[in-house]
Amino acid sequence: MEYLVLMRRVQWPLLGVLLGSLIWGGCETNPYTGRSQLLMVSADEMNQMGASQYNQMLSDPKVVLSKDAREIDPVKRVAARIIEAAKRSKYSQAAKSFDWEVTVIKDDNTQNAWALPGGKIAVYTGIFPMAKDEAGLAAIMGHEVIHALAQHGGERMSQNVIAQAGLTVSNIGLAILGVDPTLNQAAMQVMGVGVQTGILLPFSRKHESEADYVGILLAADAGYDPREAVHIWERMAAASGGAPPEFLSTHPAHETRITDLKGWMPEALALYERVSKASVKMLPLITASPPPSSSSSPPKKGARFR
Ligand SMILES: [Zn+2]
Repeated sequence: MEYLVLMRRVQWPLLGVLLGSLIWGGCETNPYTGRSQLLMVSADEMNQMGASQYNQMLSDPKVVLSKDAREIDPVKRVAARIIEAAKRSKYSQAAKSFDWEVTVIKDDNTQNAWALPGGKIAVYTGIFPMAKDEAGLAAIMGHEVIHALAQHGGERMSQNVIAQAGLTVSNIGLAILGVDPTLNQAAMQVMGVGVQTGILLPFSRKHESEADYVGILLAADAGYDPREAVHIWERMAAASGGAPPEFLSTHPAHETRITDLKGWMPEALALYERVSKASVKMLPLITASPPPSSSSSPPKKGARFR
């Protein structure tokens, strides 16, 4: 019974979205790269999902928030400059509409950071050794914030709906009658039940590349040396002996990424030279506790990220 109620609740908004996108196209052009993006989920809907995902995360008893000003202050300082730069970027409209919030999660073993649609940012203390200083943090945050501003999550979700639903007229007709389980499944995944997996779907290589490129422009405009982005990926590569860190697991190979970043660097540096520089402090020292039983196996050479 509960299931049926849920189906009724989720399928109508989805159908609205599907039909709407069929009628109006649902396409946007990325203002930096000119890439055409199919968006079947509105920015408002994505932002709401981002906020609910964020609140869910904050209320999770396993998630420990840092209360240490030495960890929180640098993250807030960098976020403030990145957000200001976003508001004067080509994404200014989205950046001004976001309800920005930044949190530091006390987890020295997790090398991760993310920004959800709507501007909720989380930085795990485990990424501090990779970021090293505030300029490194700006490079990471710039990258993550671009995923949110460029609606990569919405695009990914739209692709997922198409893949799952097949998007045929008969699908939609059957779904209206409530008898197509495929579309219902997609609806559930997109509109409610699967928010957790849906909203944090891995980004494609195109998204990663776009976030790298516009991310260094954003960090540079915020007053941070964009070359730090290259240093981070070099450190990531050096530290990635065994399993790739969570932050990197779906990212392009580090060589490709470093080569691309170097190619975009003149543009980012030209921007950096024109703006007032941020004062850059070192991040507090974090030592991850070694995982059990891994001390005897040497790091695998030639491990590659995706
Ligand atoms: Zn990314």
